[in-house]
Amino acid sequence: MIRKTRLFTPGPTPLLPAAQFAMAAADIHHRTAEFRALYTKVLSDLKTFVGTKNDVILLASSGTGAMEAAVSNLTSPGDRVLVLTAGKFGERWVSLAKAFGCDVDVVSAPYGQTFDLEEVRKALRIETRAVFMQATETSTGVRHCVQGVADVLKQSGKDAALVVDAITGLGTTHIDMDGWGVDVLIGGSQKAVMIPPGLSYLAVSNRAWELMEISLNPRYYFDLRKERKSAAKGESAYTPAVALIAALGAALDYIAAQADGDLAAGRAKLVENAETCAAMTRAAVEALELKLFAPEAPSAAATAVLPPAGMDSGVFVKELKNRFAAVITNGQGEMKGQIFRIAHLGFFDYMDTIALVGALEQVAYALKLPGFAFGKALVAAQNVFASRAADEAARNHCSCGRPVGHYALTSASLPAR
Ligand SMILES: *Cc1c(COP(=O)(O)O)cnc(C)c1O
Repeated sequence: MIRKTRLFTPGPTPLLPAAQFAMAAADIHHRTAEFRALYTKVLSDLKTFVGTKNDVILLASSGTGAMEAAVSNLTSPGDRVLVLTAGKFGERWVSLAKAFGCDVDVVSAPYGQTFDLEEVRKALRIETRAVFMQATETSTGVRHCVQGVADVLKQSGKDAALVVDAITGLGTTHIDMDGWGVDVLIGGSQKAVMIPPGLSYLAVSNRAWELMEISLNPRYYFDLRKERKSAAKGESAYTPAVALIAALGAALDYIAAQADGDLAAGRAKLVENAETCAAMTRAAVEALELKLFAPEAPSAAATAVLPPAGMDSGVFVKELKNRFAAVITNGQGEMKGQIFRIAHLGFFDYMDTIALVGALEQVAYALKLPGFAFGKALVAAQNVFASRAADEAARNHCSCGRPVGHYALTSASLPAR
């Protein structure tokens, strides 16, 4: 059989064809009225996509560039910060904060789990300048409770700013930045917005803008205040990634078109889409008698799966690639060989998910997994799809069990802190 290459990776993710066409046609200079119109529209649509009234800043960098910008713009050497970590991307916050001279407190959870909010409360100090976390930890497939951490911060009466890496959280989990009081929310282009790597973005609260005025860390290319000034005139401080910005515009149009032109509602649909693909995949994996790596707080961005005892997870990665040209990912760093990960964020649909489950059955059959029979995983995924369609209300829960509702469908949101 021929094999069509399909990415099931949590970044880069499959590309939206309309965005690819927009890139190919983006032959414009960045100091023109034409570009200013495009940039202004994309920045405004990004605000709607993020779900905030705050300014959104776009950078020509991968997601880590925006993480670095958050650290360098908000902190000074010697500042006390708190990092909540349960995986590779949480550890990146620790390294970044140390690189910029911060004194780092850490609350951690074992890989595959989320941290305890009570520990977060205890670790907060009067002098804690900022708290850094992920909305979803892509390396382990875990969803953290952003709202829970935001509440702990509010109740503490302390002054720390909350910085959330939502690079795989945006478009896969509901986040109410303004209502919850998140100060910086970070996204990246190669994730749920279906375009190639190379752009990152940050939504920044008024409080965070104020903090930037007193922070003493050096910044030049990633000076967010400079970008904000340029953005107000429809430009970027330096040469922008024009083609990627055109692609982002097309992708946001596509997301809006999923809900008759209402981008906020389209974003909610994108989240539901990822949730459904993830729930189908989890049910299929369990029907194959494989164990989920993050059963208690699974993210909809990616599902992490343990191979059978004694088997290297790379076997699944290789078999899916060699036989079906389906690209999934192994574990990151020292988790290589221990888990495999299947992504659901962005341009994945029912058909992709069912096809991957079918291919997983073929792999399980070839590997002679105990208890295997054709159809079990597919039936489980089909049942999830059918029941989710019938049961909308039960869905939108944070990993900690809080109902998050359909805030995205209304404009009601609380004032920022
Ligand atoms: C992809 C990703 C990043 C950013 O990685 P880059 O390679 O710099 O784009 C950061 N955090 C999370 C949770 C991610 O999934």
